[in-house]
Amino acid sequence: MAAIPMLSHAFFEGQIVPFGEAKVSIGTNTLQYGTGAFAGIRGYLDADGETVNIFRLPDHSARLLRSAKLLRAELPFDRDSLAATIVALAERNAPTGDIYIRPFVYKPGFDLTPKLRGMGDELAIYMLQMGDYLDTSKGVRAVVSSWKRIADNAIPSRGKFTGAYVNSAFAKDEAEEKGGEEALLLNEQGKVAEGSGCNVFIVRDGVLTTPPISADILEGITRRSFIRFAVDAGIPVEQREIDRSEVYLADEAFFCGTGVQVSPIIAIDGRPIGEGVMGPITSRLRDIFFDTVRGRNDRYAEWLTPVRQAVPVAAG
Ligand code: PMP
Repeated sequence: MAAIPMLSHAFFEGQIVPFGEAKVSIGTNTLQYGTGAFAGIRGYLDADGETVNIFRLPDHSARLLRSAKLLRAELPFDRDSLAATIVALAERNAPTGDIYIRPFVYKPGFDLTPKLRGMGDELAIYMLQMGDYLDTSKGVRAVVSSWKRIADNAIPSRGKFTGAYVNSAFAKDEAEEKGGEEALLLNEQGKVAEGSGCNVFIVRDGVLTTPPISADILEGITRRSFIRFAVDAGIPVEQREIDRSEVYLADEAFFCGTGVQVSPIIAIDGRPIGEGVMGPITSRLRDIFFDTVRGRNDRYAEWLTPVRQAVPVAAG
């Protein structure tokens, strides 16, 4: 496994500490039972080459706290104090390029029972340098997974829970075994849900379509951003159930999410989508997305939280 370019400090048990000191016991309840919640947030180097801007930090903070609420976690944070803690850690780590931020909530107790209450609740945060996770221009080949997306009344889909990612891992593994790069999961109703770690959009006859939030998907923040980009650009948008065969017949399709960013889907189950290359609507939305996160588009400037660069300590 390649070395992970971890940034030097983490937030752990209420304090900023060197990353190597942020350790939990092997008895940790969340480690045994997956009862944790997490966020994945990106910070992008601004076009000025100096500032790192965190994308939609208040929204990610709010979603993590909502996931924590589903897990009945009691934490001494609200949306703004959580966001401020993330910014303080980012400033301490003084990133010089793109970063990925991983805050998570876990239950440190040792009880040998999978349960939600009485285990204590903790927040921890670490950060790493990170570039592209999936290709964002050539596109990826997706494979419809034989693993169904977990239904909301099995594990709440709108909660971003650690244990639920076993489902993602099975789907991604199968997609890779079958020669693709990403899985497309259907829900229990057989309708399109999402990728293993990303939401999905298709384009048919100029209309951008994505499954509704009731389709057992994560309520993706990048998804919400792309809907806004499309509406503002005058592209018709629909949120409705999507059949598998519609993806086969789509003119364009793409995944989006914090890790993935935007990844055109050029084939599904070995069948080319559209011309088998990134389509014009995907390309247009992709440009708006990257202009936004790189600080080149003032229209969505309120979505960026700048990380103040640490003042270099004078030598001597
Ligand atoms: N679905 C799943 C299962 C995910 O893991 C992610 C990544 N967080 C997404 C969708 C996209 O969500 P977001 O745009 O908020 O990162």
